[in-house]
Amino acid sequence: MRSFEHYIDGTFSAGTQQFESVNPATGETWALMPRAGAEDVDRTVKAAHRALSDPAWRNLTATQRGKLLYKLADLVAANAQTLAELETADTGKIIRETSAQIAYVAEYYRYYAGLADKLQGAHLPIDKPDMEVWLRREPIGVVAAIVPWNSQLFLAAVKLGPALAAGCSVVLKASEDGPAPLLAFAKLVQEAGFPPGVVNIITGFGPDCGSVLTSHPLVSRIAFTGGPETARHVMRNAANNLAHVTLELGGKSPVVVFGDADLDSTANAVVAGIFAATGQSCVAGSRLIVERRVKDQMVQKLAAKAKAIRIGDPQDRATEVGPLATARQRDHIEAVVAQSLSAGAKLVCGGARPEGFAKGFYYSPTILDCDGVNSPSAEKELFGPVLSVLSFDGEQEAIRIANDTPFGLASGVFTSNLSRAHRMVRDIHAGIVWVNTYRAVSPIVPFGGFGMSGTGREGGLESVLDYTRTKSVWLRTSDDPIPDPFVMR
Ligand code: NAD
Repeated sequence: MRSFEHYIDGTFSAGTQQFESVNPATGETWALMPRAGAEDVDRTVKAAHRALSDPAWRNLTATQRGKLLYKLADLVAANAQTLAELETADTGKIIRETSAQIAYVAEYYRYYAGLADKLQGAHLPIDKPDMEVWLRREPIGVVAAIVPWNSQLFLAAVKLGPALAAGCSVVLKASEDGPAPLLAFAKLVQEAGFPPGVVNIITGFGPDCGSVLTSHPLVSRIAFTGGPETARHVMRNAANNLAHVTLELGGKSPVVVFGDADLDSTANAVVAGIFAATGQSCVAGSRLIVERRVKDQMVQKLAAKAKAIRIGDPQDRATEVGPLATARQRDHIEAVVAQSLSAGAKLVCGGARPEGFAKGFYYSPTILDCDGVNSPSAEKELFGPVLSVLSFDGEQEAIRIANDTPFGLASGVFTSNLSRAHRMVRDIHAGIVWVNTYRAVSPIVPFGGFGMSGTGREGGLESVLDYTRTKSVWLRTSDDPIPDPFVMR
């Protein structure tokens, strides 16, 4: 059996406790993972805090920090296949997706590497004659970065990249479900040459690891990706250290299809939106909102595609849908689909475990017609391969249904009418709108949601500034004695 270690203060260690990790494709234990408890977390945060003021890190120029990030990017690119195989083994995400995604993760580190020496302070045109005033832009401090099981290397990159570009130190907590790729990635961090303590990678569970980390008094910044319920815990914990918090949470993203769209191309985008990553994607386009006059046509096309999807071993390049990451997740999806059918939703396809995969946590690509029904599948985030179909007449109804959710992460609009596309972009309540495409990402573009989908943005310039704080410096240039001390200057 494989075993993995924490990376704390530049050293690898198995820790005092371990837990078993299960391969979702087989349901069998394949690796032992270290389990961080409160003492491990405390030691790790203290190491990160020490590293902040260690001259080995603090005295690096921004350009040198950028060079370390470029080196890390090259190492990620060179090791993408190995990391992808580990992620696939530990989470069940298909190898086609993990290998492409991790190769692209290298580009995220390159983007942040290039930004490191472009984070400028400012000289201010102060309204007082004998004063020079400038802003220093400094690293915010120790960052607690927390990620869920899906796309861990990717979700870590959008936190580590800007944090390191800005000169922070980081404690990264991998998910207890599928931590192997991040623990293996720690070797690349060490090889890239980041000084000890600057990047620490641990894993553990919510109560004894995540909770202790997010409430630690030496943590200044929390970058969290996960579910809304956990996010509430994180915010409450952050009340202890008054850390700056960003939250990237889930969604119930609408995909609005007008009858004037190219329906074949749109069907491919809808399939990508809901069945890629076996639906375990925060931006999953899980609510199809289709113009009534083309609904039957669209649903037929989608059902044909869903039935033809190749379900299989996630390590096989031919596989298109693999298992869910955990049995818990598969059981949750099964339960919500059953509730939805009882509520009156009609099963178009799927709705069961596929035959021939008794050992793994598989669930067939599923389409539910939820028109005119209060279906839980159309309201709750399932984080699985289940598409709920609703229909509309006219733009106003489309917008009303699209925005009828407390979430607001992503959305899609499919139409050949340019002015309608603009109106929809304006009126949709979501942090991302894809028009005639779906599920495209880039380090250059901010990513994040409205409402229950979180607060803050990852990616783009904004995200790097979010790992800095400014210091306003006032320097008096006059040699005259300070005048009246009882009047504010
Ligand atoms: P989760 O909220 O259960 O867990 C996320 C992380 O939080 C894990 O590392 C977990 O150990 C940790 N955690 C648990 N309790 C904690 C606590 N009390 N304090 C601090 N940390 C704690 O999420 P999940 O079920 O692993 O992942 C699925 C969720 O993540 C979905 O809702 C999905 O939409 C969301 N997600 C969002 C994005 C995005 O960028 N918006 C991306 C991927 C996933």
